[in-house]
Amino acid sequence: MDLSLRRAPQLVEAIPSSWYNILPDLPEPLPPILKPNGEPVKPQELEALFPKTLIWQEFAEERFIAIPNELRELYIELGRPTPLLRAYRLERYLDTPAKIYFKYEGVMPTGSHKVNTALAQAYFNKLENVQRLTTETGAGQWGSALALAGSLFKLKIRVYMVRASYEQKPYRRILMQIYGAEVIPSPSNLTKSGRAILEQNPNHPGSLGIAISEAIEDALTNPGAKYSLGSVLNHVLLHQTVIGLEALKQFELIGEELPNYIVGCVGGGSNFAGLAYPFYYECIVKSGNRNAEFIAVEPRAVPSMTRGKYIYDHGDTARLTPLLKMYTIGHRYIPPPIHAGGLRYHGVAPTLALLVKNRIVKPIAYHQIEVFEAAKLFAQIEGIVPAPESAHAVKAVIDLALEAKRKKEKVVILFNMSGHGLLDLVGYQEYLDGRLKDYEPKEIDFSYLI
Ligand SMILES: *Cc1c(COP(=O)(O)O)cnc(C)c1O
Repeated sequence: MDLSLRRAPQLVEAIPSSWYNILPDLPEPLPPILKPNGEPVKPQELEALFPKTLIWQEFAEERFIAIPNELRELYIELGRPTPLLRAYRLERYLDTPAKIYFKYEGVMPTGSHKVNTALAQAYFNKLENVQRLTTETGAGQWGSALALAGSLFKLKIRVYMVRASYEQKPYRRILMQIYGAEVIPSPSNLTKSGRAILEQNPNHPGSLGIAISEAIEDALTNPGAKYSLGSVLNHVLLHQTVIGLEALKQFELIGEELPNYIVGCVGGGSNFAGLAYPFYYECIVKSGNRNAEFIAVEPRAVPSMTRGKYIYDHGDTARLTPLLKMYTIGHRYIPPPIHAGGLRYHGVAPTLALLVKNRIVKPIAYHQIEVFEAAKLFAQIEGIVPAPESAHAVKAVIDLALEAKRKKEKVVILFNMSGHGLLDLVGYQEYLDGRLKDYEPKEIDFSYLI
């Protein structure tokens, strides 16, 4: 057996020098972001929230956008390129002719892919003399990535953390505090919107929508502060393409053919896009061959792609953000308390939505119990405990590998293991104890959306 095939060499040259921007390669033009009055948002109008370079990236038409050297060095210092691993043991266990590869983003310091964009956003904010970044976090994966980036670039980070998570899920809050971030339980009395809610109910548990309102208000009312987002927007997905570009290079280094299936879980879409978009360029834009299938996996409890509508909707519950054309189950949808906290988002990134609409990306959905079952199997066989979010991709990959077995097809599967689950053991505990419940909305109310 050729051992070199089990792991791609971790060569620094695998780090790309540019990110891949999908905007010029979409099958149809991306519908613009709209203001509530229906007019397109102009780039300058975003300057109160974001630095100019990130706004430029948000609308850029260049296919490749250079990664500044300082950032490239930092990627290397923090562990990139991440390993491209082959799940050999899982292949043998399933007795499948399929080859299963995965990019393992759990080796990044905070345990997920979110560091890739956090570093880039902190870098470009710092270049424009921003002093402080505000953001919101639910479970804390995004908050901890930004906290790390703030510590490296000497930027103050203020994270509005949903109060219920602040109290019940202390580990990622502690992680943020280790990196020196200010973690504020939301609703707080630091903002008008927070104070209004506390006046009515001093013990309000908070919500992601309220935390977003507080973070945006804070950035808008304090000079020197800007706002930062961990998924959904074009520039965030752009930064994540470092994952897929590395994987392409690693496939080349081990002499493997391009994958037939590219799989990732979807909350807002950043880790999926990060892996898949460079393969979309390689397999579809460049060679026009539709041999590659792109599979986006979401929870049945939050079925934006599989049961949502492709319409304009607000990006947040508080309706502070402009309108984005996307698959959505509506900003009023209250996601049930599933453990894949990163997948509890009512919409998806507009570029991903467009690819789903054009049937280039195929969405599928799973229940959380079957997802944890797949994750436990993966941990027992491959050693890595997947993040509950990434476990959705693992479940899909196991099903694909079993289908290949039935059809006797030697397919190549690649998926994104977007993070490890070592800070999510409470979810695993509930699964092991048989206390986990599956949720699925019976009907989705679209009536308040136009
Ligand atoms: C946040 C997160 C996700 C979901 O966000 P995307 O933007 O869809 O990638 C998935 N996996 C992990 C580990 C996360 O932290």
